[in-house]
Amino acid sequence: MDKLNGNRPEKEYDVIIAGGGILGVTLSYWISAIPGIKVCLIEASQRVAMHSSSRNTGVIHRPFYMNPDKKRLFAWASQKSYSMWKSFASDFNLPWNPAGTLEIAKREEDLKRLDAFSNWAVKNGMGNDEFRIFDEKEMKQEYPYLAGKGAILSKTDTSVDFGIFTNTLFRSINRENFTFMPGTYLEPENIDIGSSSILVVNGENRFRLGFRHLINAAGSDSLKIAHKMGLAKDKGMLHFRGDYWKVRENAFPEIRHNIYTIPEHPEFPFLDPHFIVRHDDSRQIGPNAAPVFSPYAYEGISERLLDPLRTLFEKPFMPKLKLLTDREFLQLAWSEWESSLIKNKMGLRVKEFIPGFKNDVLLDRGIAGIRHSVIDSDGFLEDSMVIDGPLSTHIINYNSPGATGSPAYSALIVHNLLEAGVFGERKNPSSRLLSIWNFENLFL
Ligand SMILES: Cc1cc2nc3c(=O)[nH]c(=O)nc-3n(C[C@H](O)[C@H](O)[C@H](O)COP(=O)(O)OP(=O)(O)OC[C@H]3O[C@@H](n4cnc5c(N)ncnc54)[C@H](O)[C@@H]3O)c2cc1C
Repeated sequence: MDKLNGNRPEKEYDVIIAGGGILGVTLSYWISAIPGIKVCLIEASQRVAMHSSSRNTGVIHRPFYMNPDKKRLFAWASQKSYSMWKSFASDFNLPWNPAGTLEIAKREEDLKRLDAFSNWAVKNGMGNDEFRIFDEKEMKQEYPYLAGKGAILSKTDTSVDFGIFTNTLFRSINRENFTFMPGTYLEPENIDIGSSSILVVNGENRFRLGFRHLINAAGSDSLKIAHKMGLAKDKGMLHFRGDYWKVRENAFPEIRHNIYTIPEHPEFPFLDPHFIVRHDDSRQIGPNAAPVFSPYAYEGISERLLDPLRTLFEKPFMPKLKLLTDREFLQLAWSEWESSLIKNKMGLRVKEFIPGFKNDVLLDRGIAGIRHSVIDSDGFLEDSMVIDGPLSTHIINYNSPGATGSPAYSALIVHNLLEAGVFGERKNPSSRLLSIWNFENLFL
C-alpha cells in the first residue's frame, strides 16, 4: 500500500534519529529524556544493534593509544564513557571482564610509540596506576610465551558484549515521548535538500515522517545521507570486513590479557590481528580488514553482482583512485584477503607475537563485522566527524572505539544541539526520566 500523500508527512516528530546501532540508541536515551521532545528512532533491521554494534571485538578501549590531537573526540568520549559503562554493567548485572590489553612493540622502531602511549594515557585522563610499560627484559620475565621488544599493559581495558549493552540500554529508554520504528528504511535516494520530512519504507508501505531535526547515525548509509543533504561531498566511503576465528577451549590458559601489536601502517585501516579474551573468557583471533564492496558483505566480497562497480565509481572518485594506484595499499589489501580466506595465514600473523601459536587450535569462524571508513584526498579520516546541516546533524566515520565512547559521545552531540537552541528553550535531559547516567555531570 502506498501511503504517499503528496509531501504531507504521516507523522511529525521533534527529532528523528536514523540508525539503531549503539550510537542511535544512546542518542535516543538522552533525547527522549528532554521534557516535551518527541523522538522517533528508525532502524532498517527488525531489532537494534544488528550490525557493527554486535559484530566487533567487544573491548572497552582505554584511551592510551589515542593521540589527543588527532583523535580528540574519541579520546574524550572513551575516557568519559568508561565509568558510565562500568556502573551500567554493575546495575544491570552484565558481563564485565577486566582482562586488560597488552600492546606489544614488535620492532625496535615501535618503542617510540610506547613512550607516546604513556604520555597520551595521562593526557587523556587515565591514572598512572592504570598502565605499565615493560622493556624487552621485563616482558620476557612476565610473559615468557610472547615475543616483542617491549609492551604497554592497559590494566583497565575490559571485555564486554556491546550487543547486550545496546539492547539493555534500549529497554531503559523513557517511553513517554519515544517511538521505535523497526524494519524502517530511510531512502537516501529520495532525500530533498532543505525538506523537513523524509520518505521511509517499511515492507510494502512507503510514507513520510516530518521532523524539526534529523540526526543521521546510519553507519553504512551515513555518508550517502549527508551527501544527499549537500554535505561532505569531498568524502567517500570504503568497507573493510574484520573476520575472527574461535580458539579451542583451554588453549593458552596462560594468556590472561587481550594481546594487540602496534600497527605497522597506522595510515591505513589494516591492524594486525589480535588475540582476544572475550567477555565470557572464550578466546578468538582477529580481526583482519579485508576490503569488501558492500556494507553487509559478511561473506564473500559483495552482496550483489554490481556492488563492486557501484562502490568504486560512486562520487567522489578521486580519493579512491589515489588508493587504487597506491602499491603499498594494494599489497596490504591482498594480504588481508589472504588471511580472510585462509585461516592458517591469520594464524601465521599471530605467531609473530605468540611464537608457540599453532593453527590447529583454530576452530570455526567467529562473527565478522564491517567497518565503514571515510576517505578524502588526504587519505583515511582518523577521528569520527560530526557535520551540522540547517535541519540535520550527521555522524560519519564512527568506527572503533565508537562502541566504547558512545554514551558520552552522544551526550556531547545532544549538549551541542541544546546550546545551539535546536530543541527550543534549553531543557537538559531530566534526571527524573533517566535511570542510569546523569547528563549534567558529564559537562561539569
Ligand atoms: C570488526 C570490528 C571490531 C570493532 N571492535 C571494537 C571494539 O573492540 N571496541 C569498540 O569500542 N568499538 C569497536 N568497533 C567499532 C564499533 O563497533 C562501532 O564504532 C559502533 O558499533 C558503531 O555504531 P553505530 O551505531 O554507528 O553503527 P551500527 O551498529 O552499524 O548501526 C547503524 C544502524 O543504522 C542502520 N541503518 C543504516 N542505514 C539505514 C537507513 N538508510 N535507514 C534506517 N536505518 C539504517 C543499520 O541497520 C544499523 O543498525 C569495531 C567495529 C568493527 C567493525
